[in-house]
Amino acid sequence: MPETNEMKNIAILGATGSIGSSTLEVVRNNPDKLRARVLTGGKKWQQLAKQALEFKPDMVVISDVHAYVPLKEALAGTSIRVEAGSEAVVAAAEFEPLDAVVAAIVGAAGLLPVMAAIKKGLQICLANKETLVVGGSLVMQAVKSAGIDLLPVDSEHSAIFQCLQGNPGNSLNKIIITASGGPFRTFSREQLLAVTPEQALKHPNWDMGGKITIDSATLMNKGLEIIEAHWLFDTDYDNIEVVVHPQSIIHSLVEFSDGSVIAQLGWPDMRLPIQYALSWPQRWLPPVPPLDLTRVASMTFESPDLTRFACLAYAIEAGRAGGIMPCVLNAANEVAVAAFLKRQIGFTEIAVLIRKTMDTFKNQPASTIDQLLEVDAQAREKALTMLANGAG
Ligand code: NAD
Ligand code: MG
Repeated sequence: MPETNEMKNIAILGATGSIGSSTLEVVRNNPDKLRARVLTGGKKWQQLAKQALEFKPDMVVISDVHAYVPLKEALAGTSIRVEAGSEAVVAAAEFEPLDAVVAAIVGAAGLLPVMAAIKKGLQICLANKETLVVGGSLVMQAVKSAGIDLLPVDSEHSAIFQCLQGNPGNSLNKIIITASGGPFRTFSREQLLAVTPEQALKHPNWDMGGKITIDSATLMNKGLEIIEAHWLFDTDYDNIEVVVHPQSIIHSLVEFSDGSVIAQLGWPDMRLPIQYALSWPQRWLPPVPPLDLTRVASMTFESPDLTRFACLAYAIEAGRAGGIMPCVLNAANEVAVAAFLKRQIGFTEIAVLIRKTMDTFKNQPASTIDQLLEVDAQAREKALTMLANGAG
C-alpha cells in the first residue's frame, strides 16, 4: 500500500462504463493523489480516446480489435501506447508502474484481468462482482497467497467493509444487505410478464450500466451480491440477510455478537464507495454533497419476494451449492439478460432460462480458472441453444 501522501498509480479496466467514468471523476478531483496510467474499454473507442486525451495515461487498450485503427488514429501525435484485444486487457492489468487496479469490466470477462493483477501483487478495487461469483474460492486463494488488499467498490460491500473497520472478525453475527427492490418491486406476476427493456432500464435510484440495471430489476444483482459478500467477508450464507429498502440510503448493515447493528448511509452515488476503495484507509474530501436526513424524510424496509423474483432464489441456491454452480448461474444470466435486451425473451423468462441452464449441469468442485472458463463457455452454449429452440 502506498504511503499517505504518495501518488497512487491506477489502471481502470472498463473506463468507458458507468463505474469507469465515475472513477475518472474521482481521479479528476484528486489530481495530487491519483494518476490514471492505464485505461481500457470494450468497444467505445471515441469515448476512450476522449478520456485518454484528458487523463494522458501511458497506455490505452480497447478489447474490440476492430476499434484499434480508429483509436490509434485518434491518439496519433500523442505518446500514448495503444493496444487491442482481450489478451492486451489482461496484460494491461500487469502494467508497470501500477499500485492499484479498478476492476470495472462487466461480467465474467473481468475474471482473467483481475487474476493477473492479483498475481502481480496489485491492490484491487473491485466493482466487477461477477469475478467473485464465477471464481470466488480461487480468487480469494490468490488474494491470500499474494497478500494483497481486495477492496470492495460495490456500495453494499463498501458499506459492510466500512462498518467492520476496527472490529475483530470474530465479533460479526450477520451481514444485512439492503436492496432497492428495483423498479418492479410492487408489480404483480401478470404485470411482470409485460415488462419491456425500456421500463427495466430505468432504475429508480441508481444510474448504472445496462446489464446491472436489468440485474437490479430481476433482483439477480442482489443474489450476485450475496455471493460476493460470502467471499469478501468469509461469511456463511446462513448469516447473510437481504432487506428491501426502496430509498437506497442505508447501503448495508452488520450485526455484531452483542446484538449491536451498525449501518453506513449516504446518497445513492457510486463516487463515494469508489473513492473510499481508492483512499482507504484514509478518507478524502466528499465527492458528493453530504447526506441530509431531513430531505430523506422516511426510510422503509420489507422482505424480498423470492417467488416473484426467482433470480434471487436461484442465486442463493447456486451460492450455497458452491463449486461450478455460481459460474453456470452467471453465464446463463449474462445470456438471458442480453436476450431480454434484444427482445428475444420476456422479462420473466430470464429466470426460466437460468433455471433450465442450471438444471443441465451436475455440480463439481471449482478447481482451476481454466475449468471455470470452460464451464462458462458450456453454460453460455447451452443457454443459447435453448434460446434458439424457443425455450426461455
Ligand atoms: P458498464 O456496462 O457501464 O461498463 C462496463 C465496462 O466494461 C465498459 O467500459 C465496457 O466497455 C467494458 N467491457 C464490457 N465487456 C467487455 C469485455 N468483454 N472485455 C473488456 N471490456 C469490456 O457497466 P457498469 O455499470 O460500469 O458495471 C461494471 C461492473 O461494476 C459490473 O460488474 C457491475 O455489476 C459492477 N457495479 C456497477 C455499479 C454501478 O453503479 N454501475 C455498482 C456496483 C457494481
Ligand atoms: Mg450494489
